[in-house]
Amino acid sequence: MKSGRQRRQEILLRRRARSSQPHRHVLPPWEVDRIPRGAVAADLDKLWHDNTYGSRPLYYLNTSFTCIDCGKSEVWTAVQQKWWYEEAKGKIDSRANRCRDCRRMRRLRRSQDRRVHVEGMMAKYGLEQTASRLSMPIDVLVRLREQWEKS
Ligand SMILES: [Zn+2]
Repeated sequence: MKSGRQRRQEILLRRRARSSQPHRHVLPPWEVDRIPRGAVAADLDKLWHDNTYGSRPLYYLNTSFTCIDCGKSEVWTAVQQKWWYEEAKGKIDSRANRCRDCRRMRRLRRSQDRRVHVEGMMAKYGLEQTASRLSMPIDVLVRLREQWEKS
């Protein structure tokens, strides 16, 4: 017959063993029921790079946001979010703030080599042809050119 003290000790040990196990990827059933349709489940094991406690998402949902550069509304898809947080190791509290075109434009603007290349194309083919060759909206190319001229 075990004493109360022994029993308490066993419970404590079991509890400790459980909490030292790697946490589960699979959500408990009561959480699964709460996942909205279209959500993409998070892989919590891939989110440990960020030590912000208590804010790890259980799933991702398509969310729309307004681009801080051009004001366009764009959707940050659940799949993109999953990639951003889990593969690119983006910070948990980081959010999309620029649309696809503006992100691309920033990248191009920062690269001197690309500038020489794109300016060469514009000189050779003109604005419209260059935009179509780069499969970029013409107004984005125009803005890019303006920013290059200013710098
Ligand atoms: Zn934008």
